[in-house]
Amino acid sequence: MGSASAEKPSRVPEGLWVKCPDCAQVLYNKDLEKNLHVCPKCAHHFRISAAERLRALLDDDWTEHFPDLTSNDPLRFADTKLYRDRLRTTMEATGLKDAVIVATGRLNRLDVVVAAMEYAFIGGSMGVVVGEKITRAVEMALERRQPLIVVSCSGGARMMEGALSLMQMAKISAALARLDRARLPFVSILTDPTTGGVTASFAMLGDLNIGEPKALIGFAGPRVIEQTIRQKLPAGFQRSEFLVEHGMLDLIVDRREMKTVLERALQFFGARPAPAAPPPLVVAGADAEPPG
Ligand SMILES: [Zn+2]
Repeated sequence: MGSASAEKPSRVPEGLWVKCPDCAQVLYNKDLEKNLHVCPKCAHHFRISAAERLRALLDDDWTEHFPDLTSNDPLRFADTKLYRDRLRTTMEATGLKDAVIVATGRLNRLDVVVAAMEYAFIGGSMGVVVGEKITRAVEMALERRQPLIVVSCSGGARMMEGALSLMQMAKISAALARLDRARLPFVSILTDPTTGGVTASFAMLGDLNIGEPKALIGFAGPRVIEQTIRQKLPAGFQRSEFLVEHGMLDLIVDRREMKTVLERALQFFGARPAPAAPPPLVVAGADAEPPG
């Protein structure tokens, strides 16, 4: 880190082109954006922000809920920085108050509640605010009798909030049990990466658990496991494809197909589209045109 400024200045404007980390194809950023940040050559899925995720899933505008909940640094935690300062700089950099956006909107005309996690906010970590917001999203789905979709992108529990962040696992899981008893669907989408306490709680509790291609999904990271068990892990361990083969995920869906797949799944679970537009006025007594 920090070596970028020491490099020779590039004459190409920043951010105009991106190199695919998988196939090394140089991509025009605008084209990549239109393709939902999926490499058109090799289908590498670039990480996207919570807002981009909502744009990719919802029809047009959505309503954001609880945007102002913030952590109050209950442990007065400090690592290399004061947690308080880390929060402040992250808020400035992302324009968000914590690592999840909760929204209500329509997905191909189906009313849904969506919670999308933001990796740029301290690794998408789950502290009390993320826990509270996702719990409220579940309660909102219950109240409105609407399906819930949670898109995870997270390193796990937020260690700067210690046990309070771990408690969120139980809290969200309990709320999801109520959603289940009310027979409302919960679809969990696991994106790169989904690890730690997020995987170990709500991300694996979906009626349908969908992974994005090649996403890293696990509890502890492969390096930690390898060091603990002193064994080489199989190729592709903890990637979506491996997890589908071993029954941890239900399916893998390309981001460009996600909206359609979700629509079909939610309809299967009983969701019905909202009426598109008010029906045309029918004039009493007027004869319909004969066909042909
Ligand atoms: Zn590529």
